[in-house]
Amino acid sequence: MRILMDIDGVLADQVEAALPVINARYGLELTREDIREYDQVIELPDGSTTTFGTEIGPLMHSRAFVVGMRMIEGAVRGVHELGKACSETFLATSRPEAAADATQEWLSRYNLSAYLPLYIDNKAAVPGDILIDDAPHQVEAWAATGRLAIVFDQPWNRGVEEGEFIKRAVGWRQGLARAWDWVKQREREGDVTYLHYSHALRKLNEELDGLLAKYPEEGDDE
Ligand SMILES: [Mg+2]
Repeated sequence: MRILMDIDGVLADQVEAALPVINARYGLELTREDIREYDQVIELPDGSTTTFGTEIGPLMHSRAFVVGMRMIEGAVRGVHELGKACSETFLATSRPEAAADATQEWLSRYNLSAYLPLYIDNKAAVPGDILIDDAPHQVEAWAATGRLAIVFDQPWNRGVEEGEFIKRAVGWRQGLARAWDWVKQREREGDVTYLHYSHALRKLNEELDGLLAKYPEEGDDE
């Protein structure tokens, strides 16, 4: 079983980190609910416009900005739980490789330095079973290949519809539950692809009952 997890919007609260910078620069009062897509158009007081994507680009080259991002609640524990249950757990990010050193420093702060990120734009091209991501285009491209994409709920992905290969998770607790549901269903159906992972599945099933019961409603690991 191989699981890929996105960083921004799933582990790192990139938007929360960026908004104070953008608001201070332009004298705005944007909140995360105002960011409905990556290339959200932002109207400026002088009548011109910028976009969220335009503003976030240079910030991702700032070590202080990257290292200072808040970890999303429950994420550290969620990554560790998936890491224990699955044979391969990767982080997959479309961050620029220029952000790699700062990203590694950030991961180390949260004891996640063992999960080396792949720096890749086209995540659907990566072999794997489940993708957890907040970007609509990544989720939809992955699901189109018949693999489970868990869309990590954010204001900018509410337009993504659930379907056979797309499940929405509000927070990490639900994300884990969606992943386990999927694996157990494949096992019941005798999906040969997943029988390949029978060892991981046995281990996962052994741990499943206790796992969700002890998983906190609110993240307690930060
Ligand atoms: Mg993301």
